[in-house]
Amino acid sequence: MDVVLYPDPRLRAPNDPIQEFGPELDALARDMFEVMYRTEGVGLAAPQVGVNVRLLVFNPTGDPEARDQERVLCNPRIVRSAREREFGREGCLSFPGIYAEIERPVAVTIEALDLRGEPFTLELADWEARIFQHEFDHLEGVLFIDRMRPVDKAAHRAALEELVAAYRERRVAHPERARGPARPE
Ligand SMILES: [Zn+2]
Repeated sequence: MDVVLYPDPRLRAPNDPIQEFGPELDALARDMFEVMYRTEGVGLAAPQVGVNVRLLVFNPTGDPEARDQERVLCNPRIVRSAREREFGREGCLSFPGIYAEIERPVAVTIEALDLRGEPFTLELADWEARIFQHEFDHLEGVLFIDRMRPVDKAAHRAALEELVAAYRERRVAHPERARGPARPE
């Protein structure tokens, strides 16, 4: 299992709600944590591994030993967002090497289902709220470049063009692995 890189169309595709809970879903969540730790991330959404369902995982420590910090959210919904917003530095595993200051609400309240399909509510603030909102965006087909200030996006233009060129090359070399048209954004 590998991370899907921009501009793969799976990052923009609709994500289906999870309806079946069981060993297959458990294994997907476990695999996503493994990919996330291997690539030194703190969060990962299912479309980033090419699976278009509403599942996200994160661990604010990024430490594979800190299993008690792991969060798995199926079909999450934001039920409240703080009015206060702040900028913070973000990267994205689908955009290697690109970082920018992104403005987001400082706290969110979430409803989601766990891996057994049981509902729970979570209140997150600061770093955890930021990670969650970044991953939740992926479930909506929204990428952090969509939220970058124009000046930052302009600063990363060459790097984004390189990702588009690399995607096109992979598509030529392995048409079965990369699907759909590449659209530069
Ligand atoms: Zn991301």
